[in-house]
Amino acid sequence: MYKDSATELTKQFSQGSLSAQEIMKGYFDRIEKYNPTLGAFLTVYKEKATLQAQKLDEKRKRGEKIGRLAAIPIALKDNMHVKGETTTCASKFLTNFKAPFNATVTELLEQEDAIIIGKTNLDEFAMGSSCENSALQTTKNPWKLTCSPGGSSGGSAAAIAARLCPLALGSDTGGSIRQPASLCGVYGFKPTYGRVSRYGLVAFGSSLDQIGPFANCVQDIALMMEIIGRHSEKDSTSTFKEPDVIVANLNKPIKGMKIGVPWQFLEGLSQEVRHSFDETLKIYKDLGAEIVEVDLSILKYSIAIYYILATAEASTNLSRFDGIRYGNRSTKAVTLDEVYDFSRQEGFGAEVKRRIMLGTFVLSSGYQEAYYRKAQKVRTLVLQKYKEAFSKCDLIATPVTPTAAFEIGSIKDPLEMYLADIYTIGANLGGVPALSIPAGFTADARPIGFQLTGPQMKDALVCQAAFAHELVTDYYKKIPQGFQE
Ligand code: GLN
Repeated sequence: MYKDSATELTKQFSQGSLSAQEIMKGYFDRIEKYNPTLGAFLTVYKEKATLQAQKLDEKRKRGEKIGRLAAIPIALKDNMHVKGETTTCASKFLTNFKAPFNATVTELLEQEDAIIIGKTNLDEFAMGSSCENSALQTTKNPWKLTCSPGGSSGGSAAAIAARLCPLALGSDTGGSIRQPASLCGVYGFKPTYGRVSRYGLVAFGSSLDQIGPFANCVQDIALMMEIIGRHSEKDSTSTFKEPDVIVANLNKPIKGMKIGVPWQFLEGLSQEVRHSFDETLKIYKDLGAEIVEVDLSILKYSIAIYYILATAEASTNLSRFDGIRYGNRSTKAVTLDEVYDFSRQEGFGAEVKRRIMLGTFVLSSGYQEAYYRKAQKVRTLVLQKYKEAFSKCDLIATPVTPTAAFEIGSIKDPLEMYLADIYTIGANLGGVPALSIPAGFTADARPIGFQLTGPQMKDALVCQAAFAHELVTDYYKKIPQGFQE
């Protein structure tokens, strides 16, 4: 059962060959067996989920209409709200915070009879690329337990790779869905900015944040997107467009499609990543796509721009965590100032503090023009360059990361960690959809990803091209050793 996709499982449920309770039990058994080693989940809702499954089985037996995700266990990154449950953001600050309302994605999933089974680990407040910034636990890469699963949505990626659930959500501000998807050998999709409502997602960089799915096949990504990719009144940046038709378009041939490659931007790749990239392009050529060159050299500035804009927005967003409105209050504090100071000192980890300081600096009156405003201007240029590139091609192909998964603890310099985001940040700056697809392995069986980026609102086209690749490869079917029983 755990090898089946969400699409297959929900079909078996609706046909009556598998009950929701059987599905829940199957996955909770796996979580109990493997999560202590893997550390993917922070919380599981076993009792509640089992009860929901029981009700769903009864609903089906009564012959009532059931939803498109009926009986599918789904994990949420722990920066999205499920009413009445904790949203920790993997921070000491929020260990006791209970969500007062549901995120829009939570509501949409439950309307389709999906069952939310728990919350997954992340870098504190989604800041990081390895899950090592989580204040709560370490998550391991199921393909090699001494390696990081990536981040910040590393818990969701690891859970999907180890088949602890068939679908999960993450959030992506600068690559946090695609990078862990790549390092864990699963599909991870960052939709067009505004396609999925951010209501109920704890904000990091509001102009960059986007929720998106992880799965082991493109069909499941497409199914999930048709459900969560819709307008929401509660998010002013949510697009008004009707939900995309993705599933029904997956099978369209990609013959004649133009795939742009920004060759001059592909320096510093490990040999294995480069090899897998070239091989994947070959597959696309064989499928009838035309490979053309595009200029995205502007993206060499993307890390610099991102770490100005994202930290500026984060420093503002995180000001609400003051020990009064949100967050654990310091017991040492006597005066009001001390409540703010001590609560923030004790609550936030080192990386979050670093970003608040950097963000406050680039927004300060003397430096705003030199850093923040300039970065905004270069961001506009990035948008223009994407537009120009997409006038020459339908989709753009790049690697997701310069290397495969790295050992936990091996990257000590925060700047070195930031550089690993070079291929993912562009899509957030441009607001464009991008999907990480499993595209190979290193000699020691660490996964390698391949990234397809589309123009804004062409989410369905990105999925269609990924599906064509999936049909002729089998990387996505592989299950890490040690998680196969
Ligand atoms: N790794 C990037 C960072 O540390 C991206 C994080 C994200 O997408 N949430 O900011």
